[in-house]
Amino acid sequence: MNKSLWSATSSDVRDKRLEKDLDVDILIIGGGITGLSIGYNLIGSGKKVCIVEANKVGSGVSAKTTGKLTYLQGHYRDIYKRYGTYVAKKYYQSQKEAIEMVKRIVLENKIDCNLEKSTSYLYSSGESDKEELQKEEEILRKIGASNIGREDNLPDGEKYTGVLRGNNTYVFHPLKYLYSLKKILIKNKIAIYENSRVISMEQKENYYICKCERALIKAKKVVVASHYPYFLKPFFMPLKVTLEKSYVCAYLTKSYDFDAISIDKKGSSMRFYKDKNQYKIFLCGGWNIALEGDIKKKFKKVQSEIGNYQYIWSNIDIMTGDYLPFMGKISDNLFLATGYNTWGMTNGTLAGKVISDMLLDRSSIYEMIFDPRRRIYSKWLEAMGSSVYSLVGEALYHKKKWYDGKVVFSKIKGKDVAIYIDNVGKRHIVYSKCPHLKCNLVFNEMELTWDCPCHGSRFDIDGYCIEGPSNLDISCKIEPN
Ligand SMILES: Cc1cc2nc3c(=O)[nH]c(=O)nc-3n(C[C@H](O)[C@H](O)[C@H](O)COP(=O)(O)OP(=O)(O)OC[C@H]3O[C@@H](n4cnc5c(N)ncnc54)[C@H](O)[C@@H]3O)c2cc1C
Repeated sequence: MNKSLWSATSSDVRDKRLEKDLDVDILIIGGGITGLSIGYNLIGSGKKVCIVEANKVGSGVSAKTTGKLTYLQGHYRDIYKRYGTYVAKKYYQSQKEAIEMVKRIVLENKIDCNLEKSTSYLYSSGESDKEELQKEEEILRKIGASNIGREDNLPDGEKYTGVLRGNNTYVFHPLKYLYSLKKILIKNKIAIYENSRVISMEQKENYYICKCERALIKAKKVVVASHYPYFLKPFFMPLKVTLEKSYVCAYLTKSYDFDAISIDKKGSSMRFYKDKNQYKIFLCGGWNIALEGDIKKKFKKVQSEIGNYQYIWSNIDIMTGDYLPFMGKISDNLFLATGYNTWGMTNGTLAGKVISDMLLDRSSIYEMIFDPRRRIYSKWLEAMGSSVYSLVGEALYHKKKWYDGKVVFSKIKGKDVAIYIDNVGKRHIVYSKCPHLKCNLVFNEMELTWDCPCHGSRFDIDGYCIEGPSNLDISCKIEPN
């Protein structure tokens, strides 16, 4: 699979796998920015806390972000339209708080994660976008954003129809940050188990039993920080969200100390990163994964727009419909933090505080507005439509023969399988339906993965699950006749 710039420029040793049964006060499922931030806020709480991670800490969506820590996110007018000034203002404050939290954690622990001060820009390209930018600015001013102002162009000289500036934002290396958090947690007796996927969870009287591949965990409270929950009930996630995919690439260029996003929802985003080399990190996309279509074509399009690049990768995030995250309780002693609408560096950090406060029976000012049980009807239709489309569309994709003869679909004992034939002629056989909700998988020829167009699960060519919600592999050991 194509590596992100972050994975290529940081390293960490794989930690131990869970082999023995455990009894804990708090179990956190998932070792991305959400899980580790919650763990960090539980240091010194006196609770027995454990984090289980299906693969490696930071191997999920957090490894493929663009690593901007900004409040200038381009959707305050949407939040305002739905919920009014109070909620829009609270969201703005929450993002600024999250930036301060990261700064504090980095400073207090002397973390080397290339945290750099930046200036964020929101820009419009066309005339209608210009009006949207104007509306966004009005709302930002209404909710008291004091650090914003207008510019004629971006600092690299690029001209747009409108440019809004936001001061006091940051960028960092997300994986260096996460690997350091991991070390701090372990040093402070928060147990972390890698290669330990939670397969199922059962609620007993006043505790949960979570089954991992080799052991059981009994936990009084459970936090699901696995990005997309691997279970359907109690939250019925597929009815509440859609998934958006973007392609990111990093190429050598002169470095600047700003980051920028376009105001249109399907737009682009950029930042710079400096170590021995200077990179521009450019993101384009915002495709609903159900409607994405031919992955190879999308990749090629990005390649042709960008030219020579050092790294290229894709990433998926969860969109909630009202642009507010899900953070809080979903049932007795069961908590969820996800749905960050592509702003999880700030929101995952914030979840650390909000969820840990709730776990420790402290109140949080964000508990109400980010309550995952709130009703967002508008998303239901879109989410249902996306799932149905991807189920039907997938049957067509298979027929379209996008795969240049490198993938063959067949059946073994009545089960659908797919065979990928690699460059040296080796056959890799997998079951071709996602174990999560049985959607037909699409072969991603560019990253050599099997991707679920319904809910974003991903598997390597030998069927090992590298991204949920699936909690099972699709490896098939039987050769078809
Ligand atoms: C292209 C792109 C660019 C982005 N850029 C930015 C940005 O600049 N700034 C910003 O603020 N946000 C950005 N985001 C959003 C941000 O990256 C995500 O919202 C955030 O990383 C989500 O973190 P997480 O911890 O919830 O999920 P993850 O990082 O995916 O962590 C979840 C972990 O749970 C594990 N897991 C899953 N299932 C199980 C299981 N059954 N048992 C045990 N473990 C399990 C996974 O292996 C994974 O490691 C971007 C998103 C995209 C798509």
